[in-house]
Amino acid sequence: MKTLAEIAGGLPDYDPQALRVAHAQRIIADFIEPLRDRETASLRQALGRVLAEDIPSPIDVPAHDNSAMDGYAFHGSYLRAETPTSFQVIGSAFAGHPYPGKVEAGQCIRIMTGAVMPPACDTVVPQEKVLAQSDTAVTVAAGVVKPGVNRRQRGEDLRAGMVALQAGRLLRPAELGLLASLGIAQIPVQRRLRVAFFSTGDELRSLGETLDPGCVYDSNRYTLYGMLSRLGCEAIDLGVVKDDPVSLDAALRTACAKADAVITTGGASAGDADYLRQAAAAMGDMAFWGMAMRPGRPFAFGRIAYDSDSAYLFGLPGNPVATMVSFYVFVRAALLQLMGAQAAPLPLMRASLQTSVAKRPGRTEYLRGIVAPGADGTLEVRSTGTQGSGILRSMSEANCLVVLDQERGNVAAGEIVDVLLFDGLV
Ligand code: AMP
Ligand code: MG
Repeated sequence: MKTLAEIAGGLPDYDPQALRVAHAQRIIADFIEPLRDRETASLRQALGRVLAEDIPSPIDVPAHDNSAMDGYAFHGSYLRAETPTSFQVIGSAFAGHPYPGKVEAGQCIRIMTGAVMPPACDTVVPQEKVLAQSDTAVTVAAGVVKPGVNRRQRGEDLRAGMVALQAGRLLRPAELGLLASLGIAQIPVQRRLRVAFFSTGDELRSLGETLDPGCVYDSNRYTLYGMLSRLGCEAIDLGVVKDDPVSLDAALRTACAKADAVITTGGASAGDADYLRQAAAAMGDMAFWGMAMRPGRPFAFGRIAYDSDSAYLFGLPGNPVATMVSFYVFVRAALLQLMGAQAAPLPLMRASLQTSVAKRPGRTEYLRGIVAPGADGTLEVRSTGTQGSGILRSMSEANCLVVLDQERGNVAAGEIVDVLLFDGLV
């Protein structure tokens, strides 16, 4: 296993005090070893979990040739090219009720969508396309259907033995449905990731406590709880920890024993009362970065150990918005990797910025934005207003982050910017 210093040394222009977002992301990804623990889950329990093994299909899907239309089934070789063809209707097939007899030359059956195609039939004419029909006969005009059409072939979605879902898939509603369609009730999933978190800062008060002068309620433990739960992690709340060496040591040891990863907020910068750096550095391989980004300059990452336990540590800035942005920019992908997920990077949308924004090159900026289709249907995005990194209300009003790349300078109204949406459909 490489050390953080060895990994960082491989980057051509590693600058720990003005670290590029992409560089930090790469170092974190190179350092993390996915968890291997797995367990069996029933299908419903598996929602939001990560598949631990490839799942081969036990059956052909569909299991039989079947009709894609409501209509009449026959063998296509009996269709005449130039003149209408008539067939005798000898029976019918419904979904779940196959036609038991034989279909011979000049004969057809009435067939419904999803019904099994009799062996001698390969073509379905949709009922609305026939020239004439009665209970006993149907006539098809020349050229209306080609032989072989409107039939779904056995195994056309999946053949038995083919991999239906690959290890690492995040299981969403579609995957549950797919597994159910294969008759699979139990699947191997990665163990749920345990993530402990605590807040540091003598000014922080927990809910239910009185707010002394100069104090603030701890909100980070609630945003973190929400973000971790949405990611399918077990969120372990270790409370508020005083900014002193003894308390921080104890909290990190507890976190090591209880969790696969630890998230701390506050105290990550090199301020006077920030003992977190010392405590974490003494327990493992840690890097303390100044990120070239806003919000979220201080960021710590590494792996700490105590006794036989160890955990990855993410030290996030304390400002409530910076905590959330840092989580989405760095921690989210790292936790997915740790839980064995093969997740594609989040898609960036492109939208035109409605108001100009002052920005200096040299850092990536994340603005809280509200994106919506404009009059012509293309996406437009506006800032939620003041971008102070303590203003959670703006995070609540926003439905996206506007991502302004490191190299970019001032952005004029009407320019196209990248947008990271908060909400997904599935
Ligand atoms: P720090 O990163 O510890 O220097 O904190 C930066 C700012 O964020 C300070 O104004 C803190 O009071 C505030 N802050 C830190 N942690 C929290 C928290 N858990 N909840 C709300 N505000 C916080
Ligand atoms: Mg603090």
